[in-house]
Amino acid sequence: MRADAMMNDLLSLSTNAFIAGIEATARRFDTATYPQQNLPADDWTLLTRAGVLLPTLPKEYGGRDDHVEMCRAVEAVSEWNLPVGMYVTVITAVALRPIVLWAREEAKQEVLPLYAGGDPAICGFASTEPGCGSAMSGMRTTFEEVEGGYRIRGRKHWQAFSISAHWWLVSAKNDKDGREYGYFIVKRSEGFRTLQPYEPLGLKAIDYGLNEIDAVVPRHRRIPADGRNLRPMVEMLMASRAMMAAMGCGFLRRISREAHAYADRRKLGPGPLSDIRFVRYRLAAIDASYTVCAALNHYLQNDLDMKESMIGAFPAVQAIKTVATERMLSSAHHYQQLAGGEGYRCGSPTNISGQAFLDARVYTIFDGTNDLLSQQLAEHCLSRTAGRPLSRFLAGWPLTAAAVAAQRLDLSFLDRKLRQEHLVLAGRAIGYAFAIGQVMRWAAETGADPRRARTAIEFLKADIARVATEFGLLSTGVLGLEDGVAATAGAPPSRSIPTAPEAWPGLPRRS
Ligand SMILES: Cc1cc2nc3c(=O)[nH]c(=O)nc-3n(C[C@H](O)[C@H](O)[C@H](O)COP(=O)(O)OP(=O)(O)OC[C@H]3O[C@@H](n4cnc5c(N)ncnc54)[C@H](O)[C@@H]3O)c2cc1C
Repeated sequence: MRADAMMNDLLSLSTNAFIAGIEATARRFDTATYPQQNLPADDWTLLTRAGVLLPTLPKEYGGRDDHVEMCRAVEAVSEWNLPVGMYVTVITAVALRPIVLWAREEAKQEVLPLYAGGDPAICGFASTEPGCGSAMSGMRTTFEEVEGGYRIRGRKHWQAFSISAHWWLVSAKNDKDGREYGYFIVKRSEGFRTLQPYEPLGLKAIDYGLNEIDAVVPRHRRIPADGRNLRPMVEMLMASRAMMAAMGCGFLRRISREAHAYADRRKLGPGPLSDIRFVRYRLAAIDASYTVCAALNHYLQNDLDMKESMIGAFPAVQAIKTVATERMLSSAHHYQQLAGGEGYRCGSPTNISGQAFLDARVYTIFDGTNDLLSQQLAEHCLSRTAGRPLSRFLAGWPLTAAAVAAQRLDLSFLDRKLRQEHLVLAGRAIGYAFAIGQVMRWAAETGADPRRARTAIEFLKADIARVATEFGLLSTGVLGLEDGVAATAGAPPSRSIPTAPEAWPGLPRRS
């Protein structure tokens, strides 16, 4: 059957039939057997022809235009191969989504049809530079108006698909009349070259590197966005941060299954590993993390919408990203520990834990490092307390109120002067409280086993208690952090938090 006829057939499928097709294809990428290598174009074609890009694309461009299907496709792929789940996420939620939502019609007509036909087209998002990742206001890549469009010059690094992407979404600045930021759709052949490939520890399906840009792009390829601050970039990153719930849910379903199977199979003395009580504790921790990610994924599918601006969901998304990725990493760690020496072997025939750990490791680092995002979450809440203690605010805040009340959470340890180190920890506690609320809701709305929910909630409460203990540790004074450190009151908040999302015009409504 011709590719376009095949793609057309996918458009009439029900959601379940469509996702079942993606799931069937994803099994071919099973991380237990699939080589640890950059994804060959022919293999990417298998996935594009199964339709992984279609939920992101508008109907008039041959897509299925469906938020829930975007999430379910990534979840299905991540269960079989997390790096390939990330592969799909970068192309759909990070690179194509802003083009679909905000690019000018002429730019959409140029780019989107290339992604609708089942061809192995790839696009990436280039913001991080060697000199700046967390504080993007330090970017050095510039744009200037020239005849026929904009000239963009600079260096970016760590981009997914550094070597293989055909199209890029690039952020740049112009300091001519005060600072202005701009976002541009750049064709690789216009002047995007990779100076040095990077070898990542995990996520081997994706190629990375140090890139140099010297390109002139036509005027219509500038995304119309407020250039006065970095809020449009924050918005553009929100979909991939939220997608961590989908990736985490798929990945942890697999890790839970594999860890249980390993612990039941492996004999230690007369009985299996799973007879050891502490092994069962580790398995319970993995299962609880899977439940947490399932609940966050439920929130992602039902309360968020990647088809619109997500800036109003800023605090929820920060919580999802930090909690889901922490759960992915801690579960991979538990699983690897259970696998003993076999867990430290590349290509072990008995388990996938070594690779799972290497793949999950970067999740707490990239897409906004978790420490920074936690700080921003705490700052977001502090800016809304209207003089109330933070714990009182959280008791009434829609994202945490139900959890605080139902679980009688005592967050009063947060009611003090919060220095930067406290802000990071406070943001974590707020994320856990948010997650408790979502587990409660997920259990009520899906009819899940209440014991599963109860275990996950108890683990999250233990995490909050750990933060309270860390506050105590900090106040002992033994860490030497007290002297000469500016208190929050005198320190500016992270520059990229949208302090008034309701009023924020950053990006226009979907054009
Ligand atoms: C595998 C991988 C894929 C990536 N993909 C892309 C991509 O496709 N496109 C792209 O543009 N970029 C990408 N990146 C870049 C990534 O987003 C950045 O690495 C990340 O944002 C962190 O920036 P940085 O590396 O400059 O770390 P830095 O900004 O130097 O931060 C280093 C560390 O400092 C600490 N830190 C920073 N701020 C705080 C704070 N406020 N409180 C406490 N601690 C703090 C944290 O521990 C942090 O991890 C990728 C990176 C990796 C490793």
